[in-house]
Amino acid sequence: ADILIRMDNVEKYYGSFHALKNVNLTVQRGEKIVLCGPSGSGKSTLIRCINHLEPIKSGRIVVDGTELSDGQKSIDIVRREVGMVFQQFNLFPHMTVLENCMLAPMRVRGVKREEAEATARRFLERVRIGNQADKYPAQLSGGQQQRVAIARALCMEPIAMLFDEPTSALDPEMVKEVLDTMVGLARDGMTMICVTHEMGFARQVADRVIFMADGEIIEENTPEAFFQAP
Ligand code: ADP
Ligand code: ADP
Repeated sequence: ADILIRMDNVEKYYGSFHALKNVNLTVQRGEKIVLCGPSGSGKSTLIRCINHLEPIKSGRIVVDGTELSDGQKSIDIVRREVGMVFQQFNLFPHMTVLENCMLAPMRVRGVKREEAEATARRFLERVRIGNQADKYPAQLSGGQQQRVAIARALCMEPIAMLFDEPTSALDPEMVKEVLDTMVGLARDGMTMICVTHEMGFARQVADRVIFMADGEIIEENTPEAFFQAP
């Protein structure tokens, strides 16, 4: 089997607080996982550990054959390969949409300006926001900004995408446009782990729904089984 992301016996603490308890997870290439569970159960922590935004205490995380260690080299490799989208869009306010999308490919991957611009324009088109390329983030709606954040991550040509409650900060009327973009990505075969409370999205795209509570994975199932009334 082609396993892209694997977590073995991962333990995570914040000080003395035990945030992840013996987490084991394998994600196949092309698989879509929805992570759900109550607030504070460790969902965000779990995905943040995958690209080492949070260090772990023990256990093992392997992304496409690279084992994460505290050394900068493996962290750089994994961050280049795994794109992340946050609840807050985290766009640079002083840069245009286009510049936001060109920055990391040029800085981190050494892509030439012309190629970075062509790639950025292509992905901005793909999230249907190509006509906003020269605007600044504050000139866009929340839903548009989140689609820019998705395009920006895609410009690094990641092998997998992590979404941390990408629609939670949006006004209700903008949730659908962002979910539609994510559904499109899923249909194109992207490997995805999504922390979301959008259960309609989970039913529509998830291969597996994972339920967490108190830092532990307590259920893993297909959406059909997961949402079946008991
Ligand atoms: P979820 O995404 O399921 O809401 P989180 O992963 O954000 O949960 O948080 C899990 C637990 O870890 C919560 O109790 C939270 O308060 C705690 N926590 C998260 N980040 C930190 C931090 N930087 N320092 C201390 N505790 C934290
Ligand atoms: P679309 O339907 O193409 O996603 P919208 O109808 O959301 O676009 O927005 C139309 C125009 O209004 C956009 O060019 C955008 O820049 C601007 N706009 C939308 N919402 C806001 C907002 N909250 N603040 C500032 N400008 C906005």
